Amino acid sequence: MPHDIIVRYAIVGAGTAGVTAAEAIREVDPAGELLIINGESYAPYCRPLIIEVLTGERRFDDVHLRGADWYDKRGISLINGDPAVHLDTSDKKVVLSSGRTVMWDKLLIAAGSKPAIPPIDGIDLEGLPAFTLYRQTDVEQLRPHARPGAKALLIGIGLIGLQAMNALREMGVDIVAIDLQSKVLPLILDAKAAKYAKKQIEDHGIEVRLRTGVRLIRRANGNGCPYAAMTRRGEEIPFDFTVLATGMKPDFSLINESAIDRKRGIKVNADMETSVPGVFAAGDVTEFYDVTERRSDVHGHWVNAYRQGRIAGLRMAGETATPYDPVYLNSLNIFGLPIITMGSSRVDRPKNAKVYLTDVPGRPAYTRFVLREGRLVAATFVNDVHRAGVFQYLMREKIDISDVASSLFNRELGGMEWLYKHHETAVRGKVEWPATMDLIDRYKKDHSHTRWGDGEKTGDKKP
Ligand SMILES: Cc1cc2nc3c(=O)[nH]c(=O)nc-3n(C[C@H](O)[C@H](O)[C@H](O)COP(=O)(O)OP(=O)(O)OC[C@H]3O[C@@H](n4cnc5c(N)ncnc54)[C@H](O)[C@@H]3O)c2cc1C
Repeated sequence: MPHDIIVRYAIVGAGTAGVTAAEAIREVDPAGELLIINGESYAPYCRPLIIEVLTGERRFDDVHLRGADWYDKRGISLINGDPAVHLDTSDKKVVLSSGRTVMWDKLLIAAGSKPAIPPIDGIDLEGLPAFTLYRQTDVEQLRPHARPGAKALLIGIGLIGLQAMNALREMGVDIVAIDLQSKVLPLILDAKAAKYAKKQIEDHGIEVRLRTGVRLIRRANGNGCPYAAMTRRGEEIPFDFTVLATGMKPDFSLINESAIDRKRGIKVNADMETSVPGVFAAGDVTEFYDVTERRSDVHGHWVNAYRQGRIAGLRMAGETATPYDPVYLNSLNIFGLPIITMGSSRVDRPKNAKVYLTDVPGRPAYTRFVLREGRLVAATFVNDVHRAGVFQYLMREKIDISDVASSLFNRELGGMEWLYKHHETAVRGKVEWPATMDLIDRYKKDHSHTRWGDGEKTGDKKP
């Protein structure tokens, strides 16, 4: 009979959110028993870097979140390969697949998300080489198929599809990429940015088909590839293997039977506590209501998982923490074309908002700013990203720029150039602001998080 484990803190999930939370708990409470339950058999690793493991750029041993002795040294117990399968919040216990029971005082659910599999006829064909890209095991299964000259069908051209594309192309694979939506990266890019992105993808030898989905998959009859997909438009796409990058959804397997309130994700407050006192949640599994933005969202984003994990850990250990304030930011590299998006840039025609769009003369580049009630609520930088940090600051601090917007976003007046050139000294109050920019007074205050890379990226450093 497996024995019970009794701990003060139990963490389910050993991704960024879970491990960061453990680290934060230890900063406050060096001795309370702390257990991380890792459903995967591998030591905890940095998920985005599995793409580099796929291409061979890194070995798996190089992408661990922490060194092998990090856990022991801090008195953190880590159980690998034994997922939690049952949760009882009244008795404060979780049962693991091995039958072991863990009794806890405070619980963190950091179970992340899982790939959404589309309902395609034939997707369950025996022996079909169909892969998702989420875990290290996916990489191990996919790699032998990604040979130079192999034909891949990539279903879904979102963030993970894009990363899969970059990696497979680098490995010499021929790719046909398909998406139901009318543009690539539909959740992140506005129509114009998506057009640039699509062209860049096609210029790198990838065939892109939009506004159509895969209807069925079957074995092919001797046209060179072992499998074929039929699209909803009736086209046939032969392929050797397929990658399903059709979105992620919060993993509710553990909480399905529990009273924990959830909708798209587990609902948490700014302290990362769920509707059940003493039970916290952090990372991709959560949904957070942003009071300022007046919207509830799931933030499938590494930096947000890190920040949420840290807040959850501190609060679980009884420490105060700055309430969670999400970062809506994506930084992409599409075969050498840099794009940064902030806020809800994906909304092509935002309501009650003013849009400023400026092309950069002489090259395929532009910036797009969306203002609502005088505040910057979204921005897109295509092939012209070096000023993004400054605008991120304006957005995060919710500075009213209504009176200066037209000069600030006007390339001919040089407002952006001025802002970029002087922002570092300006924020320290060392230079005078031009009259048109007087209202950005708050921007002059001393702070150290203006430059792209200094704030969200290095402030919340990948360990
Ligand atoms: C291929 C890929 C590339 C990405 N690239 C980027 C990027 O460039 N930038 C970016 O910001 N984000 C990126 N992301 C998203 C980023 O990885 C996630 O936002 C982040 O990992 C979320 O961290 P998390 O700790 O919430 O969850 P996860 O990293 O998903 O970890 C959750 C862990 O919990 C485990 N688990 C689930 N249920 C149980 C259970 N019952 N018992 C025990 N364990 C359980 C899961 O197996 C998993 O190991 C990428 C994601 C993928 C898949």
